[in-house]
Amino acid sequence: GLQEADKTVDSTCPYCGVGCLIKYHVKDNKILYTEGRDGYTNHFRLCVKGRYGFNYIHNPLRLTKPLIRREGVPKSTELLDPNDLDKEFREATWEEALDFAANGLKKIRDEKGKKALAGLGSAKGSNEEAYLFQKLVRIGFGSNNVDHCTRLCHASSVVALLECLGSGAVSNPVSDVAQAEVIIIIGSNPTVNHPVGATFMKNAAKRGTKIILMDPNRTAIAKYASHVLQFRPDTDVALLNGIMHTILAENLQNDAYIKQYTEGFDQMRTHLRNYSPEKVAPICGIDAETIKEVARLYATSKGSMILWGMGVSQHIHGTDNARCLIALALMTGQIGRPGTGLHPLRGQNNVQGASDVGLIPMVYPDYESVEDPKFRAKYEKLWNTELDPKRGLTTVEMIHAILDGEVFGMYIEGENPAMSDPNQNHARKALASLEHLVVQDIFLTETAGFADVILPASAFYEKTGTFSNTDRRVQMGRQAVNPPGEAKQDLWIIQEIAKRLGCDWNYQGPEDVFNEMRQAMTSIAGMTWERLENEDSLTYPLENVGDPGQPIIFTDGFPTATGRGRFVPADFIHADELPDNEYPLIFITGRQLEHWHTGSMTRHSPTLDAIEPDPVVSLHPLDLEKLGVEPGGFITVESRRGKLSAYARAELGIQKGTLFMAFCYNEASSNLVTNDALDPAAKIPEFKFCAVKAYAG
Ligand code: SF4
Repeated sequence: GLQEADKTVDSTCPYCGVGCLIKYHVKDNKILYTEGRDGYTNHFRLCVKGRYGFNYIHNPLRLTKPLIRREGVPKSTELLDPNDLDKEFREATWEEALDFAANGLKKIRDEKGKKALAGLGSAKGSNEEAYLFQKLVRIGFGSNNVDHCTRLCHASSVVALLECLGSGAVSNPVSDVAQAEVIIIIGSNPTVNHPVGATFMKNAAKRGTKIILMDPNRTAIAKYASHVLQFRPDTDVALLNGIMHTILAENLQNDAYIKQYTEGFDQMRTHLRNYSPEKVAPICGIDAETIKEVARLYATSKGSMILWGMGVSQHIHGTDNARCLIALALMTGQIGRPGTGLHPLRGQNNVQGASDVGLIPMVYPDYESVEDPKFRAKYEKLWNTELDPKRGLTTVEMIHAILDGEVFGMYIEGENPAMSDPNQNHARKALASLEHLVVQDIFLTETAGFADVILPASAFYEKTGTFSNTDRRVQMGRQAVNPPGEAKQDLWIIQEIAKRLGCDWNYQGPEDVFNEMRQAMTSIAGMTWERLENEDSLTYPLENVGDPGQPIIFTDGFPTATGRGRFVPADFIHADELPDNEYPLIFITGRQLEHWHTGSMTRHSPTLDAIEPDPVVSLHPLDLEKLGVEPGGFITVESRRGKLSAYARAELGIQKGTLFMAFCYNEASSNLVTNDALDPAAKIPEFKFCAVKAYAG
């Protein structure tokens, strides 16, 4: 029967950027069950991950003791079989493990130079953890070689937003869809990846809002859409330029807005002459009339909003894709009011916050460039240190730098590049060849198998800290249970490593770190810990104590040097690797409702893993028939870089000629196949397009 809880804890969700507020019912250091709270972002609703996905923390496979690689045991480039854990690692005390971890890093720093080290922090951790981690790398390692999974997620969106609008976050919250007349959802599958956010979109559609879905796949939200543009993968720029061409050809642009708030419009107008709907129609596989209809709807409605996901960002032209979306909003003035604006739907629950606090190689907290002497001086003073004047390496660049003999040691906290990075055979070879790898995590992740020392950390529910959701809401995550065994809180571990690298730190807890963040960051300068405790959720910018916060920004211009939004024209280019006779199909990766990212949490949740226990590749039924594979049969997918075998799933919504797969299955890692070509501006890999062949078996 249902047990009675002896306490309840008000917190948030460890999974997606929607940031649902949740009440945890706890007894004897165990979470029994959860319920949704009345948060701005969820109004009591939860999806299957937030509702049932907590039980990974009670999995007996949790790491509970520090582990050190046994001397003389070489690292394989293959994933470690968990049954071989004892053969490769031995238990150690915290003191020994921390000394071993830090000494290995220090030796490399002192002998090979500061840039021979790199760090990956995590968007799964709190703002305070992310802030301390980047500070540790910048001071303790002495370079800006620090990044996290934003690089694999919305890095391109952020580059375009900063370049064009001067701010990398969303302009309007998801819930604003209720006030929009038209919503464009492009390259995003919200029903699966932002399920509670999707409920707001569905409710809006039921009340008459028109949803225009643009995606190579006909995803579940199509049922609520007035227009479904199932365009050819990779042709976003052509399609969006065609829409903008129509707006100008039919004089539907907002001249007053363009004049008052933007720059670069004339150049944009000239650029768009080449992109008539008739010309782009055969490129994107959408007829010219539909392109025109959508352009008119978006431009002339009282409020049009654009939401996008990784279908837009994960291309070598991801930054261009986002530049087009921004230009579309600027030329129509569909920004700066309720029910308008631009919303890149953030993935992990704190990928917004981890980026805001500077867990990226080119900027300090609040996106202040490390290469700008003014900001460098500010942080040198605040942190009482000297800082590296050059930007550091991004996630995928770190992998290349290891194989190029430039990086020898890494500290990886909560990230899992042995699953998440593209071209896995290459990435795993790099991780295995590191001279010293420190991994801090809650399970023996695929990455931890390559470590020299593994530090057992705390899960989301085992610590307190702030998390910033996709709406720019900073929300309080509260500790519900204690970490198992000897596992420690991440803030403590980061600080212990930092001390051993020469940092004189003595933060008493998350509140202490948060108060230092407020000193550094104008965006949250007025946000007090006390108010967060009382109100649970506050939206930045919140510069002065007592300010209400700003759910909608850009209401009167932009935080750019000129105060104006910038048009940046983009030309249509193809993906890095196109299908040919040998590899005739297109492979696209993403997520599933029940599984999250590399699966380190959800695949350890018995409830979620029972719903989706096996790797699946989805194809159009006619493609399956052509391959001679029955739905449920085994199929092999092979690219120039690697191959995998998984169960075939027939899905009518998948575009013919393409295959779709989630990247959470270590027994069939989709990233063995993916391409590590990068967007030149954002350094994001092209997860959404590579050439493969597929066959039965
Ligand atoms: Fe958690 Fe996102 Fe689901 Fe809400 S929608 S319960 S934040 S995974």
